[in-house]
Amino acid sequence: MTQQYEAVIGLEIHVELKTNTKIFCNSTTEFGGDPNTHVCPVCLGLPGTLPVLNKKVVEYAVRAALALNCSIANFSKFDRKNYYYPDLPKNYQISQYDLPIAEHGYLDIEVDGQTKRIGITRLHMEEDAGKLVHQGNIVSTPYSLVDYNRTGVPLIEIVSEPDMRSPEEARAYAEKLRAIIQYTGVSDCRMEEGSLRCDANVSVRPVGQKEFGTKTEIKNLNSFRALQRALAYEIERQIAVLEAGDRVVQETRTWDETRGITLSMRSKEQAHDYRYFPDPDLVPLVLDNQYIDFIRQSLPELPDQRRARYMDDYGLPAYDANILTLTKEMSDYFEEVLKDYDNPKTVSNWMMGEMTRLLNANGIDITECKIRPGQLADMLNLVDKGTISIKIAKTVFEEMFNTGKDAEAIVKEKGLVQISDAGAIAAVVDEVIAANPKSVEDFRAGKEKAIGFLVGQVMRATKGKANPELVNKLLREKLQ
Ligand SMILES: [Zn+2]
Repeated sequence: MTQQYEAVIGLEIHVELKTNTKIFCNSTTEFGGDPNTHVCPVCLGLPGTLPVLNKKVVEYAVRAALALNCSIANFSKFDRKNYYYPDLPKNYQISQYDLPIAEHGYLDIEVDGQTKRIGITRLHMEEDAGKLVHQGNIVSTPYSLVDYNRTGVPLIEIVSEPDMRSPEEARAYAEKLRAIIQYTGVSDCRMEEGSLRCDANVSVRPVGQKEFGTKTEIKNLNSFRALQRALAYEIERQIAVLEAGDRVVQETRTWDETRGITLSMRSKEQAHDYRYFPDPDLVPLVLDNQYIDFIRQSLPELPDQRRARYMDDYGLPAYDANILTLTKEMSDYFEEVLKDYDNPKTVSNWMMGEMTRLLNANGIDITECKIRPGQLADMLNLVDKGTISIKIAKTVFEEMFNTGKDAEAIVKEKGLVQISDAGAIAAVVDEVIAANPKSVEDFRAGKEKAIGFLVGQVMRATKGKANPELVNKLLREKLQ
């Protein structure tokens, strides 16, 4: 009998906070810009400068932590994490070590229709490092350039408990965390711009064993898909190592997206390698309960609450409610459509169906969609009025998606108005009956299916413009 294994996964997620200025100075946090233009003596680590904590960073960190059900520390402090790297001008990063601003949180994920609670160990504040720009890749580059624009941009790092058991759970956790943070408004969580970054710790152990196996850490995961794929690969790799009678080496590995494999980067460093010590330039951070409660009261509606509301108030199935609330943009769009169109399930079907299909096919997200919520509502109203059929609506929708034009304009331009004139349809129905004696005979012999074929023929002859209900009715009348 072969040994069964289970994976143990924990995630460390870094989120950039969208404050106007950096965590310890007045330099702008704006993404991009010419290299080394968003800098000042403080974030460049020049001698004689002192950091001053940005109040907004504290507020945002507390906001995110409360949304993740953490307890907020009344007393926390900043520490220096010492290491040398060219993108870190001070040779230490200001972070929080033994006394983080928040601990003991959780979030709930849904996988295969089951709800599972994933613990959050801690959330702490720290400063981001700069960026090295290589010519090609890091190994073959003749030289590297450094850009300090990102140095000192505020981050929160959120460390989960090792509560996840599959790549799917890890992905669900990361997606849920992103949704929650987005709803709080403290970050836009754009993985492609690096404002949400994810590292995964993973080990495997024989099913039934209590002790954890030796873990590896995977870096360079820049999409949720990459996270899921990298974990699936790494779990298989570790199992193969154990099956071969070898040991898993504790190390940091990188995900190679094009080859679909993880590669060894370096042996894993331990906390004591960093020589953490309290930053003498910053006073400890003391927060009173009144301040914490004030922020708690200002929290907006979060994904779980919104999801419950969609089910209770709109009668949406859990599946729809989950997908619609997974990103704030999707959810906000949905609510905008409902202002001008009052059938939530129909809107949900269009958004999860045609819209998602076209967004995926074009590789864009809903914020880039040319169809504005009001325009979608107008189109759905045209369907309800019977001006266009559902079938035509799909054509109109696609045209709206590509051009951003109003449904009504497209319908007029292309002459797509649904034919609901019984006289006009009756003529076509007669032709179809005459041309398909076999199907007519089948239907009269009790084969209910045959009518579907005949309806299809009428729809074809009218280029999809005939009102299908009317076609059905006329056919049945004539075949009686
Ligand atoms: Zn600065």
